[in-house]
This record gives sequence, C-alpha cells and structure tokens, in this order.
Amino acid sequence: MYDSFDRRINYLRISVTDRCNLRCIYCMPEDGIKTLQHSEILTFEEIVEVARVAVKMGINKVRITGGEPLVRKGIVNLIAMLNAIPGIEDLSMTTNGILLAKYATQLREAGLNRVNISLDTLDGAKYKMLTRGGELIEVLMGIQAAKDAGLDPVKINCVVQLSSDEPDARIIAEYCRQNGLAARFIHQMSLTEGHFSVVEGGTGGDCSSCNRLRLTANGKILPCLFGDQEFDVREFGPERAIRMALENKPACGSVNLTGEFYNIGG
Ligand code: SF4
Repeated sequence: MYDSFDRRINYLRISVTDRCNLRCIYCMPEDGIKTLQHSEILTFEEIVEVARVAVKMGINKVRITGGEPLVRKGIVNLIAMLNAIPGIEDLSMTTNGILLAKYATQLREAGLNRVNISLDTLDGAKYKMLTRGGELIEVLMGIQAAKDAGLDPVKINCVVQLSSDEPDARIIAEYCRQNGLAARFIHQMSLTEGHFSVVEGGTGGDCSSCNRLRLTANGKILPCLFGDQEFDVREFGPERAIRMALENKPACGSVNLTGEFYNIGG
C-alpha cells in the first residue's frame, strides 16, 4: 500500500503492552505511569486480526514493541500466532533484554527472526541509574542468549544525547564490533517538542522514506509517531482504521502531545 506521498507502507510496529520492568529516565516519568486497564489492552486474537488484515493490505514487516514486550504474559504464543500469518516476511522485536536469556530460544522456535536490544552504556552503575534499577549483567546474558538462539541479526539500540561520538556510544560501538552485533544510535527524542532525527545505522526518523504505521497496545493505529492522530481498530474495524491512518499520514512528523514512548513503542 502507498500513502498520499507515494511512500510504500509495508511495516507495522505493534506495541503489545505499556508496561515495563525498567524505568528508563528518558522514557518513564519519575512518579510512575498510569497504566492501561486490562480491558483496554488488545487480546492476542485482536492483534493477530489487525496484523492479518494489514498483511492483506501490503504489510510484510512486523516489529513487536512495548513498553517491554517480554513482560506480556504468553508473548511466545503471540509470536507463534503472528508467524503463522502468510505474508509476514520479517518478524522482529525490540526489547530491553532483561528477560531475553529466559525467552530467546522459545521466541526463535516460535518464529521470531531478529531482535533489537536497548543498551546505552556498559558501565553497570550508570546502567542502573539510567534504568532506575536495571542490572547490566542480565542484558549482556540476554544478548548472548539471542545470539546462541540464532536470532539474526542482533542489533543494539543505543540512545545518545547528541551524537554517536559520545564516550558511552563509542564503547558500545567497539563492543558491537567485537561481538558481531549491529549498533544503532538513536538521538534522544522529545514527542512534545518534536525533536527527532534519523537513526544512525537505521531507517527510523527519515520521513521522506517512512514506511511505517503503528498499533498501540490499546488498539489505535497511528499514522506517525510525531503526530496526535489515531484510529481505533475496535471502533472502525482493522481495515478502515488502517486505511484512515494511511490517508492521514503526514509528509513528516511534527509533535505528539498525547502519547508517550512507553505506550507507543517508539
Ligand atoms: S516522524 Fe512520522 S513520518 Fe517521520 S519517520 Fe517518524 S513516523 Fe515516519
């Protein structure tokens, strides 16, 4: 499918939860978050139905995000259900890696192809500060488990303040080079201020060739991360909601005053 700017839209990012087992300082507010009610969260069957319809309309690439997707109960089953949809050529996940050592093999066997793991520093104390309590060793074990399970490629998403020339980013780059990982550097973004840029080593943030739509955990199709428009699949049905999002997809992002990274999935 193509949007009104003749961009081919073939990529659907699906947030399966707004919950997370970390509290990263650039994502989660200090005083916690108001999480969605259980009844607001799409069931696996609803997610699969949206994905099935989206594939029929032209999507062939699906990424599972959150919050943290691995905290969603039964996540391995959801991967298997999505993998069973003919036409999904690339099924990936973005995770903070904390639970990856536990699930990597099951996810691979269920049909997950590849994974992006968030890691901004190899300094354990700094990691604990940035994530408000996370253990670096758990992520490193998750990265190894992903490689051992055959998830390929394994990419590292490293958030930087201004550039990949920052000390932590250079250390992450060298770590990736030594361990056969692909590094991606994401400049810190602000939804409300409309601050975003092209991901170094990736495709995100390049509006001229944007190929994506997003499905939030509570069933909204978003034409753009940096926009406030959303179309409810429970209200309009998957096909109409996707079509409305496509028709309303902006030429480029501006600001998002209503959403949060933890409930959109970046
Ligand atoms: S800001 Fe919007 S249009 Fe630009 S790349 Fe992101 S989602 Fe696409």
